[in-house]
Amino acid sequence: MATIPNVDFKKRRAPDFPSAALPLLQDAQLRSNVRHATGVIQGKRARVVSEMPDWQALRDAGQRIRAHTLEHLDIYLEQFEQRCIAAGGHVHWARDAAEANRIVLQLAQNRTGRIIKIKSMTTEETGLNRALEAAGIRPVETDLAELIVQLGHDKPSHIVVPALHKNRSQVRELFSRTMNLPQLGDRPEDLAEAARVYLRRQFLSTPVAVSGANFLIAETGGVCIVESEGNGRMCLTLPKKLISIAGIDKIIPRFRDLEVLLQVLPRSATGERMNPYNSLWTGVHPGDGPEEFHVVLLDNRRTEVLRDPEARETLHCIRCGACQNACPVYRQTGGHAYGSVYAGPIGAILTPQLAMMERGQSLPYASSLCGACYEVCPVKINIPEILIHLRGRVVTGRPKVLRAFHPEAIAMRAMQWMFLRATRFSMAQRLGRIAQRPWIRQSGWIERLPTVLGGWTRTRDLRPLPPQSFREWFQARSHASMPSQNSSEAPHD
Ligand code: SF4
Repeated sequence: MATIPNVDFKKRRAPDFPSAALPLLQDAQLRSNVRHATGVIQGKRARVVSEMPDWQALRDAGQRIRAHTLEHLDIYLEQFEQRCIAAGGHVHWARDAAEANRIVLQLAQNRTGRIIKIKSMTTEETGLNRALEAAGIRPVETDLAELIVQLGHDKPSHIVVPALHKNRSQVRELFSRTMNLPQLGDRPEDLAEAARVYLRRQFLSTPVAVSGANFLIAETGGVCIVESEGNGRMCLTLPKKLISIAGIDKIIPRFRDLEVLLQVLPRSATGERMNPYNSLWTGVHPGDGPEEFHVVLLDNRRTEVLRDPEARETLHCIRCGACQNACPVYRQTGGHAYGSVYAGPIGAILTPQLAMMERGQSLPYASSLCGACYEVCPVKINIPEILIHLRGRVVTGRPKVLRAFHPEAIAMRAMQWMFLRATRFSMAQRLGRIAQRPWIRQSGWIERLPTVLGGWTRTRDLRPLPPQSFREWFQARSHASMPSQNSSEAPHD
Protein backbone atom coordinates (compact mmCIF):
# COMPACT_ATOMS: atom_id res chain seq x y z
CA MET A 1 0.00 0.00 0.00
CA ALA A 2 1.22 3.53 -0.76
CA THR A 3 2.54 5.52 2.21
CA ILE A 4 0.26 8.35 3.20
CA PRO A 5 1.89 11.75 3.54
CA ASN A 6 0.51 14.32 5.91
CA VAL A 7 0.82 18.01 6.53
CA ASP A 8 3.27 18.83 9.25
CA PHE A 9 1.29 21.70 10.75
CA LYS A 10 4.16 22.45 13.13
CA LYS A 11 6.61 23.08 10.30
CA ARG A 12 3.80 24.54 8.22
CA ARG A 13 4.77 22.40 5.26
CA ALA A 14 2.81 20.00 3.11
CA PRO A 15 4.12 17.28 0.83
CA ASP A 16 4.54 17.98 -2.85
CA PHE A 17 1.24 17.03 -4.51
CA PRO A 18 2.64 15.46 -7.72
CA SER A 19 5.05 13.21 -5.81
CA ALA A 20 2.38 12.27 -3.28
CA ALA A 21 -0.11 11.52 -6.06
CA LEU A 22 2.19 9.32 -8.14
CA PRO A 23 2.07 6.09 -6.06
CA LEU A 24 -1.69 6.56 -5.53
CA LEU A 25 -2.27 6.83 -9.28
CA GLN A 26 -0.62 3.44 -9.63
CA ASP A 27 -3.02 1.87 -7.10
CA ALA A 28 -5.77 0.60 -9.42
CA GLN A 29 -7.96 -0.68 -6.55
CA LEU A 30 -7.89 2.65 -4.74
CA ARG A 31 -8.72 4.59 -7.91
CA SER A 32 -11.58 2.27 -8.73
CA ASN A 33 -12.98 2.58 -5.16
CA VAL A 34 -12.76 6.38 -5.25
CA ARG A 35 -14.32 6.68 -8.71
CA HIS A 36 -17.15 4.33 -7.81
CA ALA A 37 -17.99 6.00 -4.49
CA THR A 38 -17.80 9.58 -5.79
CA GLY A 39 -19.86 8.58 -8.84
CA VAL A 40 -22.62 7.09 -6.65
CA ILE A 41 -22.76 10.17 -4.38
CA GLN A 42 -22.74 12.53 -7.37
CA GLY A 43 -25.67 10.65 -8.93
CA LYS A 44 -27.69 10.82 -5.70
CA ARG A 45 -26.89 14.51 -5.30
CA ALA A 46 -27.97 15.31 -8.86
CA ARG A 47 -31.32 13.54 -8.27
CA VAL A 48 -32.22 15.34 -5.04
CA VAL A 49 -31.00 18.71 -6.29
CA SER A 50 -33.12 18.39 -9.44
CA GLU A 51 -36.21 18.10 -7.20
CA MET A 52 -35.64 21.63 -5.90
CA PRO A 53 -36.95 24.35 -8.21
CA ASP A 54 -35.42 26.97 -5.91
CA TRP A 55 -31.98 25.34 -5.68
CA GLN A 56 -30.12 28.35 -7.10
CA ALA A 57 -32.03 30.68 -4.77
CA LEU A 58 -31.03 28.46 -1.83
CA ARG A 59 -27.40 28.59 -2.92
CA ASP A 60 -27.62 32.40 -3.12
CA ALA A 61 -29.15 32.50 0.36
CA GLY A 62 -26.43 30.19 1.71
CA GLN A 63 -23.77 32.41 0.19
CA ARG A 64 -25.34 35.52 1.74
CA ILE A 65 -25.54 33.94 5.20
CA ARG A 66 -21.90 32.86 5.12
CA ALA A 67 -20.62 36.18 3.75
CA HIS A 68 -22.61 38.20 6.29
CA THR A 69 -21.38 35.99 9.16
CA LEU A 70 -17.74 36.36 8.27
CA GLU A 71 -18.05 40.10 7.87
CA HIS A 72 -19.34 40.33 11.45
CA LEU A 73 -17.50 37.32 12.87
CA ASP A 74 -16.22 39.17 15.96
CA ILE A 75 -19.74 40.19 16.99
CA TYR A 76 -21.25 36.75 16.44
CA LEU A 77 -18.44 34.92 18.23
CA GLU A 78 -18.89 37.07 21.33
CA GLN A 79 -22.64 36.66 21.16
CA PHE A 80 -22.21 32.89 20.95
CA GLU A 81 -19.89 32.89 23.95
CA GLN A 82 -22.32 34.92 26.09
CA ARG A 83 -25.36 32.82 25.20
CA CYS A 84 -23.54 29.51 25.61
CA ILE A 85 -22.26 30.48 29.08
CA ALA A 86 -25.71 31.77 30.05
CA ALA A 87 -27.12 28.33 29.16
CA GLY A 88 -24.62 26.57 31.43
CA GLY A 89 -21.84 25.81 28.92
CA HIS A 90 -18.13 26.71 29.09
CA VAL A 91 -16.31 28.40 26.21
CA HIS A 92 -12.56 28.13 25.58
CA TRP A 93 -10.56 30.00 22.95
CA ALA A 94 -7.66 28.26 21.20
CA ARG A 95 -5.18 30.21 19.09
CA ASP A 96 -3.79 27.10 17.40
CA ALA A 97 -3.95 23.32 17.22
CA ALA A 98 -1.56 22.78 20.15
CA GLU A 99 -3.60 25.03 22.44
CA ALA A 100 -6.86 23.34 21.43
CA ASN A 101 -5.37 19.92 22.14
CA ARG A 102 -4.05 21.08 25.52
CA ILE A 103 -7.51 22.31 26.53
CA VAL A 104 -9.19 19.07 25.44
CA LEU A 105 -6.54 16.97 27.21
CA GLN A 106 -7.17 18.74 30.50
CA LEU A 107 -10.90 18.28 30.16
CA ALA A 108 -10.81 14.70 28.89
CA GLN A 109 -9.08 13.08 31.90
CA ASN A 110 -11.35 10.39 33.31
CA ARG A 111 -11.20 7.09 35.18
CA THR A 112 -11.59 4.88 32.07
CA GLY A 113 -8.62 6.39 30.20
CA ARG A 114 -10.84 6.54 27.14
CA ILE A 115 -13.08 9.00 25.31
CA ILE A 116 -15.61 8.48 22.54
CA LYS A 117 -15.56 10.70 19.47
CA ILE A 118 -17.94 11.87 16.80
CA LYS A 119 -16.47 12.40 13.34
CA SER A 120 -14.74 15.75 13.37
CA MET A 121 -12.46 17.13 10.72
CA THR A 122 -11.40 19.88 13.12
CA THR A 123 -9.93 17.34 15.53
CA GLU A 124 -8.16 15.71 12.56
CA GLU A 125 -6.77 19.16 11.74
CA THR A 126 -5.40 19.57 15.26
CA GLY A 127 -4.11 15.99 15.47
CA LEU A 128 -6.13 15.46 18.64
CA ASN A 129 -6.04 11.65 18.53
CA ARG A 130 -2.24 11.61 18.52
CA ALA A 131 -2.16 14.08 21.43
CA LEU A 132 -4.65 12.00 23.43
CA GLU A 133 -2.79 8.78 22.80
CA ALA A 134 0.48 10.41 23.83
CA ALA A 135 -1.20 11.38 27.12
CA GLY A 136 -2.48 7.82 27.66
CA ILE A 137 -6.11 8.47 26.71
CA ARG A 138 -7.57 6.17 24.05
CA PRO A 139 -9.85 7.95 21.58
CA VAL A 140 -12.57 5.67 20.14
CA GLU A 141 -14.02 6.83 16.83
CA THR A 142 -17.73 6.04 16.70
CA ASP A 143 -18.55 7.10 13.14
CA LEU A 144 -18.41 3.95 11.01
CA ALA A 145 -16.08 5.40 8.38
CA GLU A 146 -13.81 6.97 11.01
CA LEU A 147 -13.76 3.66 12.88
CA ILE A 148 -12.59 1.94 9.67
CA VAL A 149 -9.86 4.56 9.28
CA GLN A 150 -8.82 4.23 12.93
CA LEU A 151 -8.74 0.43 13.03
CA GLY A 152 -6.72 0.36 9.81
CA HIS A 153 -4.20 3.01 11.07
CA ASP A 154 -5.20 4.88 7.95
CA LYS A 155 -6.00 8.53 7.20
CA PRO A 156 -9.34 10.01 6.13
CA SER A 157 -9.52 10.62 2.40
CA HIS A 158 -12.80 12.56 2.19
CA ILE A 159 -14.46 15.18 4.39
CA VAL A 160 -17.81 13.43 4.57
CA VAL A 161 -16.90 9.82 3.77
CA PRO A 162 -13.46 9.37 5.35
CA ALA A 163 -13.10 5.71 4.29
CA LEU A 164 -14.33 6.26 0.74
CA HIS A 165 -11.12 4.71 -0.60
CA LYS A 166 -12.02 1.33 0.94
CA ASN A 167 -14.46 -1.14 -0.54
CA ARG A 168 -16.71 -3.59 1.29
CA SER A 169 -14.41 -6.60 1.16
CA GLN A 170 -11.49 -4.54 2.47
CA VAL A 171 -13.68 -3.40 5.38
CA ARG A 172 -14.78 -6.99 6.06
CA GLU A 173 -11.15 -8.13 6.18
CA LEU A 174 -10.26 -5.26 8.55
CA PHE A 175 -13.18 -5.89 10.94
CA SER A 176 -12.62 -9.62 10.89
CA ARG A 177 -8.94 -9.14 11.81
CA THR A 178 -9.22 -6.34 14.37
CA MET A 179 -12.46 -7.44 16.05
CA ASN A 180 -11.55 -11.14 15.97
CA LEU A 181 -14.58 -12.17 13.89
CA PRO A 182 -13.31 -14.87 11.50
CA GLN A 183 -16.82 -15.77 10.26
CA LEU A 184 -17.87 -12.19 9.45
CA GLY A 185 -19.81 -11.80 6.20
CA ASP A 186 -19.41 -8.84 3.86
CA ARG A 187 -23.06 -7.77 3.52
CA PRO A 188 -23.62 -4.17 4.68
CA GLU A 189 -25.80 -5.43 7.53
CA ASP A 190 -23.03 -7.83 8.71
CA LEU A 191 -20.51 -5.01 8.85
CA ALA A 192 -22.96 -2.60 10.50
CA GLU A 193 -23.82 -5.22 13.13
CA ALA A 194 -20.15 -5.85 13.91
CA ALA A 195 -19.55 -2.12 14.36
CA ARG A 196 -22.73 -1.74 16.42
CA VAL A 197 -21.75 -4.46 18.91
CA TYR A 198 -18.21 -3.08 19.17
CA LEU A 199 -19.35 0.51 19.69
CA ARG A 200 -22.31 -0.10 21.99
CA ARG A 201 -19.96 -1.19 24.76
CA GLN A 202 -17.98 2.03 24.38
CA PHE A 203 -21.09 4.26 24.39
CA LEU A 204 -22.37 2.74 27.60
CA SER A 205 -19.12 2.83 29.55
CA THR A 206 -17.28 6.02 28.52
CA PRO A 207 -17.99 9.19 30.50
CA VAL A 208 -16.45 11.77 28.12
CA ALA A 209 -17.26 12.51 24.47
CA VAL A 210 -15.55 14.81 21.99
CA SER A 211 -17.43 16.16 19.00
CA GLY A 212 -16.96 18.66 16.23
CA ALA A 213 -19.80 20.93 15.13
CA ASN A 214 -21.51 21.65 11.86
CA PHE A 215 -22.83 24.98 13.06
CA LEU A 216 -22.57 27.17 16.16
CA ILE A 217 -25.64 29.36 16.54
CA ALA A 218 -24.78 32.82 17.89
CA GLU A 219 -28.37 33.77 18.70
CA THR A 220 -28.91 30.83 21.08
CA GLY A 221 -25.40 29.70 22.04
CA GLY A 222 -26.40 26.28 20.68
CA VAL A 223 -24.51 23.71 18.65
CA CYS A 224 -25.78 21.71 15.67
CA ILE A 225 -24.49 18.39 14.38
CA VAL A 226 -25.90 16.43 11.47
CA GLU A 227 -25.09 12.78 10.90
CA SER A 228 -26.45 9.56 9.45
CA GLU A 229 -25.74 6.77 11.90
CA GLY A 230 -27.01 7.86 15.30
CA ASN A 231 -23.55 7.48 16.83
CA GLY A 232 -23.44 11.24 17.24
CA ARG A 233 -26.72 11.28 19.14
CA MET A 234 -25.36 8.56 21.47
CA CYS A 235 -22.20 10.59 22.14
CA LEU A 236 -24.20 13.74 22.74
CA THR A 237 -26.60 12.22 25.22
CA LEU A 238 -24.94 9.35 27.13
CA PRO A 239 -21.59 10.70 28.51
CA LYS A 240 -21.44 12.95 31.52
CA LYS A 241 -19.10 15.41 29.84
CA LEU A 242 -19.26 16.69 26.27
CA ILE A 243 -16.45 18.68 24.62
CA SER A 244 -17.17 20.21 21.22
CA ILE A 245 -14.30 21.62 19.22
CA ALA A 246 -15.07 23.87 16.26
CA GLY A 247 -13.34 26.34 13.99
CA ILE A 248 -14.45 29.93 14.53
CA ASP A 249 -15.83 29.87 10.98
CA LYS A 250 -18.60 27.48 12.04
CA ILE A 251 -20.68 30.33 13.47
CA ILE A 252 -24.04 31.25 11.97
CA PRO A 253 -26.01 34.24 13.26
CA ARG A 254 -29.54 32.96 13.75
CA PHE A 255 -31.44 29.76 14.41
CA ARG A 256 -33.53 30.38 11.29
CA ASP A 257 -30.39 30.32 9.10
CA LEU A 258 -30.50 26.56 9.57
CA GLU A 259 -33.59 26.55 7.36
CA VAL A 260 -31.33 27.23 4.38
CA LEU A 261 -28.19 25.42 5.47
CA LEU A 262 -29.94 22.21 6.50
CA GLN A 263 -31.51 22.03 3.06
CA VAL A 264 -28.32 22.50 1.05
CA LEU A 265 -25.90 20.55 3.27
CA PRO A 266 -27.35 17.01 3.21
CA ARG A 267 -28.28 17.24 -0.48
CA SER A 268 -24.74 18.30 -1.37
CA ALA A 269 -22.97 15.98 1.06
CA THR A 270 -24.63 12.60 0.72
CA GLY A 271 -27.47 13.16 -1.74
CA GLU A 272 -30.06 12.94 1.04
CA ARG A 273 -33.06 15.25 1.39
CA MET A 274 -32.42 15.44 5.09
CA ASN A 275 -29.85 13.95 7.44
CA PRO A 276 -31.28 11.07 9.47
CA TYR A 277 -30.04 12.69 12.69
CA ASN A 278 -30.06 16.45 13.29
CA SER A 279 -28.93 17.17 16.85
CA LEU A 280 -29.16 20.62 18.41
CA TRP A 281 -28.25 21.34 22.01
CA THR A 282 -27.71 24.42 24.12
CA GLY A 283 -25.78 24.36 27.39
CA VAL A 284 -26.77 21.78 29.99
CA HIS A 285 -30.11 20.64 31.38
CA PRO A 286 -30.23 18.80 34.73
CA GLY A 287 -31.30 15.19 34.25
CA ASP A 288 -31.07 15.37 30.47
CA GLY A 289 -27.83 14.72 28.61
CA PRO A 290 -24.28 15.68 29.70
CA GLU A 291 -23.81 17.40 33.04
CA GLU A 292 -20.86 19.41 31.73
CA PHE A 293 -20.53 20.99 28.31
CA HIS A 294 -17.48 22.74 26.82
CA VAL A 295 -16.94 24.41 23.47
CA VAL A 296 -13.38 24.98 22.20
CA LEU A 297 -13.29 27.71 19.56
CA LEU A 298 -10.30 27.20 17.29
CA ASP A 299 -8.59 29.90 15.25
CA ASN A 300 -5.53 28.08 13.82
CA ARG A 301 -4.91 30.86 11.24
CA ARG A 302 -8.55 31.35 10.25
CA THR A 303 -8.23 35.02 11.20
CA GLU A 304 -5.25 35.23 8.80
CA VAL A 305 -7.44 33.77 6.04
CA LEU A 306 -10.05 36.37 6.90
CA ARG A 307 -7.54 39.16 6.33
CA ASP A 308 -7.10 38.27 2.67
CA PRO A 309 -10.13 39.74 0.86
CA GLU A 310 -9.55 37.60 -2.21
CA ALA A 311 -9.32 34.30 -0.34
CA ARG A 312 -11.53 34.78 2.72
CA GLU A 313 -14.44 33.19 0.89
CA THR A 314 -12.65 29.91 1.69
CA LEU A 315 -14.13 30.21 5.19
CA HIS A 316 -17.67 30.11 3.80
CA CYS A 317 -17.24 26.35 3.43
CA ILE A 318 -19.80 24.16 5.20
CA ARG A 319 -17.75 20.98 4.58
CA CYS A 320 -20.22 19.16 2.39
CA GLY A 321 -17.55 17.50 0.22
CA ALA A 322 -19.51 18.04 -3.03
CA CYS A 323 -16.49 19.73 -4.63
CA GLN A 324 -14.39 16.64 -3.92
CA ASN A 325 -16.89 14.32 -5.61
CA ALA A 326 -17.04 16.58 -8.67
CA CYS A 327 -13.30 17.22 -9.04
CA PRO A 328 -11.62 15.27 -11.88
CA VAL A 329 -8.26 15.50 -10.08
CA TYR A 330 -9.58 14.21 -6.75
CA ARG A 331 -11.44 11.42 -8.54
CA GLN A 332 -8.15 10.18 -9.97
CA THR A 333 -5.89 10.52 -6.94
CA GLY A 334 -8.22 10.18 -3.95
CA GLY A 335 -7.72 12.28 -0.85
CA HIS A 336 -4.36 11.12 0.52
CA ALA A 337 -2.34 12.91 -2.16
CA TYR A 338 -3.38 16.26 -0.66
CA GLY A 339 -1.48 15.44 2.51
CA SER A 340 -4.14 16.99 4.70
CA VAL A 341 -7.47 16.16 6.24
CA TYR A 342 -8.96 18.66 3.77
CA ALA A 343 -8.60 17.05 0.36
CA GLY A 344 -9.93 17.92 -3.07
CA PRO A 345 -10.66 21.47 -4.22
CA ILE A 346 -11.50 22.78 -0.74
CA GLY A 347 -8.23 21.27 0.53
CA ALA A 348 -6.30 22.84 -2.34
CA ILE A 349 -7.38 26.28 -1.12
CA LEU A 350 -7.81 25.75 2.62
CA THR A 351 -4.68 23.76 3.49
CA PRO A 352 -2.17 26.22 1.98
CA GLN A 353 -3.79 29.01 3.96
CA LEU A 354 -4.08 27.14 7.26
CA ALA A 355 -0.69 25.49 7.01
CA MET A 356 1.04 28.65 5.78
CA MET A 357 3.02 26.54 3.41
CA GLU A 358 6.20 28.02 2.17
CA ARG A 359 7.46 28.72 -1.32
CA GLY A 360 7.05 25.99 -3.87
CA GLN A 361 3.94 24.51 -2.30
CA SER A 362 1.91 22.74 -4.90
CA LEU A 363 -1.69 22.34 -3.75
CA PRO A 364 -3.15 25.37 -5.62
CA TYR A 365 -1.83 23.70 -8.77
CA ALA A 366 -3.68 20.45 -8.05
CA SER A 367 -6.56 21.51 -10.26
CA SER A 368 -7.44 21.74 -13.92
CA LEU A 369 -9.53 24.88 -13.16
CA CYS A 370 -12.49 23.23 -14.89
CA GLY A 371 -14.91 24.92 -12.47
CA ALA A 372 -16.86 21.75 -11.55
CA CYS A 373 -16.28 22.53 -7.85
CA TYR A 374 -17.82 26.00 -8.19
CA GLU A 375 -20.84 24.55 -10.02
CA VAL A 376 -21.73 22.20 -7.17
CA CYS A 377 -20.73 24.26 -4.14
CA PRO A 378 -23.91 24.91 -2.11
CA VAL A 379 -22.59 28.25 -0.85
CA LYS A 380 -21.08 29.26 -4.20
CA ILE A 381 -17.43 29.50 -3.22
CA ASN A 382 -15.52 30.50 -6.33
CA ILE A 383 -12.75 27.95 -5.81
CA PRO A 384 -11.10 28.39 -9.25
CA GLU A 385 -10.68 32.13 -8.60
CA ILE A 386 -9.11 31.45 -5.20
CA LEU A 387 -6.81 28.83 -6.71
CA ILE A 388 -5.55 31.38 -9.23
CA HIS A 389 -5.10 33.94 -6.47
CA LEU A 390 -3.09 31.45 -4.38
CA ARG A 391 -0.98 30.49 -7.39
CA GLY A 392 -0.20 34.19 -7.69
CA ARG A 393 0.86 34.23 -4.04
CA VAL A 394 3.12 31.22 -4.62
CA VAL A 395 4.83 32.98 -7.55
CA THR A 396 5.16 36.40 -5.93
CA GLY A 397 6.50 34.70 -2.80
CA ARG A 398 9.57 33.55 -4.75
CA PRO A 399 12.68 35.76 -4.82
CA LYS A 400 12.71 38.00 -7.92
CA VAL A 401 15.66 36.29 -9.52
CA LEU A 402 14.12 32.83 -9.09
CA ARG A 403 10.89 34.15 -10.53
CA ALA A 404 12.65 35.40 -13.66
CA PHE A 405 14.63 32.19 -14.22
CA HIS A 406 11.99 29.69 -13.17
CA PRO A 407 11.58 27.11 -15.98
CA GLU A 408 7.89 27.96 -16.23
CA ALA A 409 8.63 31.69 -16.62
CA ILE A 410 11.24 30.96 -19.30
CA ALA A 411 8.81 28.64 -21.11
CA MET A 412 6.09 31.30 -21.00
CA ARG A 413 8.41 33.96 -22.42
CA ALA A 414 9.44 31.57 -25.23
CA MET A 415 5.75 30.84 -25.96
CA GLN A 416 5.00 34.55 -26.03
CA TRP A 417 7.83 35.11 -28.54
CA MET A 418 6.60 32.22 -30.67
CA PHE A 419 2.93 33.15 -30.71
CA LEU A 420 3.63 36.75 -31.70
CA ARG A 421 4.33 35.83 -35.36
CA ALA A 422 2.68 33.15 -37.51
CA THR A 423 6.03 32.43 -39.20
CA ARG A 424 7.64 31.70 -35.82
CA PHE A 425 4.78 29.44 -34.85
CA SER A 426 4.99 27.37 -38.03
CA MET A 427 8.79 27.22 -37.73
CA ALA A 428 8.38 25.87 -34.16
CA GLN A 429 5.94 23.26 -35.44
CA ARG A 430 8.38 22.11 -38.12
CA LEU A 431 11.23 21.91 -35.58
CA GLY A 432 9.00 20.07 -33.12
CA ARG A 433 8.16 17.45 -35.76
CA ILE A 434 11.85 16.82 -36.36
CA ALA A 435 12.78 16.82 -32.65
CA GLN A 436 10.06 14.34 -31.69
CA ARG A 437 11.13 11.64 -34.18
CA PRO A 438 13.48 9.68 -31.85
CA TRP A 439 10.78 9.53 -29.17
CA ILE A 440 7.90 8.13 -31.22
CA ARG A 441 7.44 4.44 -30.41
CA GLN A 442 6.09 1.69 -32.66
CA SER A 443 2.65 2.20 -31.17
CA GLY A 444 2.67 5.67 -32.74
CA TRP A 445 2.71 7.37 -29.30
CA ILE A 446 5.40 9.20 -27.36
CA GLU A 447 5.85 7.23 -24.15
CA ARG A 448 8.78 9.10 -22.61
CA LEU A 449 10.30 12.54 -23.05
CA PRO A 450 13.74 13.57 -21.80
CA THR A 451 14.77 16.04 -19.05
CA VAL A 452 12.24 18.60 -17.79
CA LEU A 453 9.74 17.56 -20.45
CA GLY A 454 9.57 14.13 -18.81
CA GLY A 455 6.83 15.34 -16.48
CA TRP A 456 4.37 15.27 -19.39
CA THR A 457 4.92 11.56 -19.99
CA ARG A 458 5.33 10.36 -16.41
CA THR A 459 1.72 9.27 -16.10
CA ARG A 460 0.45 9.35 -19.69
CA ASP A 461 1.49 8.83 -23.31
CA LEU A 462 1.52 11.76 -25.71
CA ARG A 463 0.19 11.89 -29.23
CA PRO A 464 2.94 13.22 -31.54
CA LEU A 465 2.55 16.41 -33.57
CA PRO A 466 0.73 15.49 -36.79
CA PRO A 467 2.74 15.48 -40.05
CA GLN A 468 0.73 18.46 -41.27
CA SER A 469 -0.79 21.29 -39.23
CA PHE A 470 -4.33 22.49 -39.89
CA ARG A 471 -3.00 25.68 -41.48
CA GLU A 472 -0.71 23.70 -43.80
CA TRP A 473 -3.52 21.34 -44.71
CA PHE A 474 -5.85 24.24 -45.43
CA GLN A 475 -3.32 26.08 -47.57
CA ALA A 476 -2.50 22.92 -49.55
CA ARG A 477 -6.19 22.28 -50.10
CA SER A 478 -6.85 25.86 -51.20
CA HIS A 479 -3.99 25.74 -53.67
CA ALA A 480 -5.13 22.42 -55.07
CA SER A 481 -8.70 23.59 -55.62
CA MET A 482 -7.79 27.05 -57.01
CA PRO A 483 -8.45 27.15 -60.79
CA SER A 484 -5.36 28.15 -62.76
CA GLN A 485 -5.75 31.30 -64.85
CA ASN A 486 -5.47 29.29 -68.04
CA SER A 487 -7.88 26.69 -66.95
CA SER A 488 -10.93 26.29 -69.14
CA GLU A 489 -12.81 24.51 -66.33
CA ALA A 490 -15.80 26.52 -65.21
CA PRO A 491 -16.11 27.14 -61.49
CA HIS A 492 -18.90 25.34 -59.76
CA ASP A 493 -22.01 27.34 -58.92
S1 SF4 B 1 -16.07 24.31 -0.83
FE1 SF4 B 1 -18.28 24.22 -1.17
S2 SF4 B 1 -18.57 22.22 -2.17
FE2 SF4 B 1 -16.53 22.14 -1.22
S3 SF4 B 1 -16.85 21.25 0.79
FE3 SF4 B 1 -16.97 23.48 1.04
S4 SF4 B 1 -19.14 23.96 0.87
FE4 SF4 B 1 -18.87 21.91 0.04
